[in-house]
Amino acid sequence: MDIGALRGTQALRNNVLKWMSFCLGVLATIFAFYNLLYNDFAVLGILEVFFAVFCFHTYFYTRQHYGHLWQSLTLCVFLSLLVVIGTHFGDIKNLLFIWTCALPILYYLLLGKRYGLFFSFGIAIIQGITLLSKETLVPLNSVNSLLNLSFVYISIWAVSHSFENSRAEYGKRLENLALLDPLTGAGNRLAMTHYFEVELTHKNGLFMLMLDLDYFKKINDQYGHEVGDRVLIEVTSFFRQRLNKGYVFRIGGEEFAIFLPASDPQSAFEFADMLREQLATIDYQIDEHTINVTISIGVACYMPKQTLKNFIKRADDALYQAKQQGRNRVVTAYELNISQLFCDTDKAS
Ligand code: GH3
Ligand code: MG
Ligand code: MG
Repeated sequence: MDIGALRGTQALRNNVLKWMSFCLGVLATIFAFYNLLYNDFAVLGILEVFFAVFCFHTYFYTRQHYGHLWQSLTLCVFLSLLVVIGTHFGDIKNLLFIWTCALPILYYLLLGKRYGLFFSFGIAIIQGITLLSKETLVPLNSVNSLLNLSFVYISIWAVSHSFENSRAEYGKRLENLALLDPLTGAGNRLAMTHYFEVELTHKNGLFMLMLDLDYFKKINDQYGHEVGDRVLIEVTSFFRQRLNKGYVFRIGGEEFAIFLPASDPQSAFEFADMLREQLATIDYQIDEHTINVTISIGVACYMPKQTLKNFIKRADDALYQAKQQGRNRVVTAYELNISQLFCDTDKAS
């Protein structure tokens, strides 16, 4: 399973940050030399030296790691500052203000829609004021050139906004297609792996509940597959409603897994038992049928450096025991002496 494909936005932003840092680093170095040695524009030249150093540092950093938001923000703010200062103090003939039009693309690609909108709006206002407050725009025809600049800027802004908007929306839809079970809307196995390996950075105090509906085949046989499907949807939403923290995944036909953060094994057990007990009291009205389902649950506790496969296996073994012991019950891996008995350093009772 290619989990990396699910980090499309992060990979795109990182690539843009890397190559923009490189290009801007080279450009800033050239401009710094020019401004310091020929143009006699020391303030801008010195700022460009700092900017170039920052850009090259970011470039080398992003070759090894994913870039941070603060690096993208600094790049955008620094470049915007250079453009504003250059426009304010520089000679209009240099056409430095044209750089303003490139900024929305950078904002949206590096920072996304919300920041993009905010920065694009902000820089438009600041540059508008800067240009209007200049004593003269000669040799440009002020009204015409300002109108043209505004139209170009707005067009580029609109294109950047709609591009990022659709990219993010389609990215989200693709991610949902890849990660969600179409019947119940719960996460699938890939989502479970992704969540465990990428998003769950702190796994201490993490428990896995493996849940399987009891005698589900009978429901299908008695009421039909479609009714069975609706029971699965109802049960998923039951799990969701009861979970404040944690995620529910459908990892088999009528088998679910829940990652549950809990302070100790006893509270994980109590939560699992509360789920079991409450579900057993619910009568679902589906078409003209009244359906009651029960679940068996196996609980395992995460141990440092444990693989997901092993984590699942321990919860699965506990679930198997719950089935063996008559169903509609909770069995914990720690009470069963399955492989390792302990959660981190806590000895489970
Ligand atoms: P046990 O208590 O041992 O778990 O008994 P069971 O009948 O639940 O277990 P078994 O594994 O024998 O049957 C699982 C059934 O789940 C078989 C299959 O028809 C049904 N099933 C699997 N996926 C779906 C689905 O997407 N929709 C419906 N309606 N039924 C499904
Ligand atoms: Mg079952
Ligand atoms: Mg099953």
